[in-house]
Amino acid sequence: MSSGKALDPSNTIRSGNDRSRCAVSKNCGGCIYASVPYAEQLKKKEKSVKDLLSGICEVRPIVGAKEPLYYRNKVHWAFGHLGTHLIAGRYAEGSHRIIENDHCLLEDKECAKILSDIRELAIKFKIRSYDERTRQGLLRRVLLRKGSTTGEIMVVLVLSSPVLPGKKGFIKSLLEKHPSIKTVLININTRTDSMILGEKTICEFGRGFIYDELLGVRFKISPESFYQINHDQTEKLYSLAIDAASLKKGEKILDAYCGIGTIGLCAASSTEGILLTGVELNRAAVSDARENAKLNAERTSAFTKARFIAADATKFMTEAAAKNEKYDVVFLDPPRAGTTQEFITACEKLSPERIVYVSCDPVTLARDLKIFKKHGYEPQYAVPVDMFPFTEHVETVVQLMLQ
Ligand code: SAH
Repeated sequence: MSSGKALDPSNTIRSGNDRSRCAVSKNCGGCIYASVPYAEQLKKKEKSVKDLLSGICEVRPIVGAKEPLYYRNKVHWAFGHLGTHLIAGRYAEGSHRIIENDHCLLEDKECAKILSDIRELAIKFKIRSYDERTRQGLLRRVLLRKGSTTGEIMVVLVLSSPVLPGKKGFIKSLLEKHPSIKTVLININTRTDSMILGEKTICEFGRGFIYDELLGVRFKISPESFYQINHDQTEKLYSLAIDAASLKKGEKILDAYCGIGTIGLCAASSTEGILLTGVELNRAAVSDARENAKLNAERTSAFTKARFIAADATKFMTEAAAKNEKYDVVFLDPPRAGTTQEFITACEKLSPERIVYVSCDPVTLARDLKIFKKHGYEPQYAVPVDMFPFTEHVETVVQLMLQ
């Protein structure tokens, strides 16, 4: 985290002390809990999980953030213009209206400073911002990612065409100001939808990716990789998931919906001789996961016994059940839609002793836990984790045991 000591949890974005005051929260709309003291936000989130899981299992106290501000390690600003003046900032919630705000209380401070310097440089180098209506102009967005442990920063300039006038001087000036920038890429986005990145990315400086660490395990992060945006809370979430798995030496584990392999590889590093299989739909993430296993291979034998498969998690599970494969523990971390009835049926056939469900939506979690119960898995306890302070989102870890 970029800022020092922990905030008093009674602070709010709009009505706390000077450090926790946001001038634009009303126009921006990104923080639904802008005027709610942090302690109260936690209570609200805990209650919503308790209500949804009532009658299903015990819900333990929510794990809040020590520092609820400046947690976003992935920050992107849109570029546009007001008359002839170049502007840059977040889009207001649900619109493409740019809100200029160099002091967003959720964005990593160093990233926000780099972005405001990029805006100054764009003005100095006379780079035209892109106009979504006329489809004229060049600079659409800038995406920054920061490795919270390593301090490495990636800058992705999203352009409507590959030709950036004064490119060398622009990048040189930026690097001189901010030596923590380890790589600069240009992404060409000619799309008309609201996707941030287009298909083609060219590396202009550095290795094209950054490293970060979670629980002592190193991860390669590419511009497109899914990577949790709140580093400190992610470590707490994963530690809870690993605790819930009660791993023993040499066990066989499955990480379903594994992204770049973060949960599985952290779990594998926690216990000797773990045999890890990860399954994930996104091919780029699977290739990152394989590299991440190699990258950490010297640390423990577990990583050399990791395999990652690009497939639909349900299809993989159904085939594994048909082949009578055995797993001691299954982790699943599906998107907000939750998992499928078929995934759960296949779990029953594979009969791992323990299942750890990491959920980003308590509504679909409650639905899936009820189905797990019918298939012989009893939820033991749930722990909500506040990954996104000031927003309404809440993650939850649940331990399930085969009855
Ligand atoms: N466990 C990872 C990623 C969680 S996000 C982490 O903590 O970083 C959910 C992941 O599920 C995404 O990477 C997404 O690409 C993947 N996914 C979505 N649908 C899927 C499916 N049907 N089968 C497998 N993976 C899927």
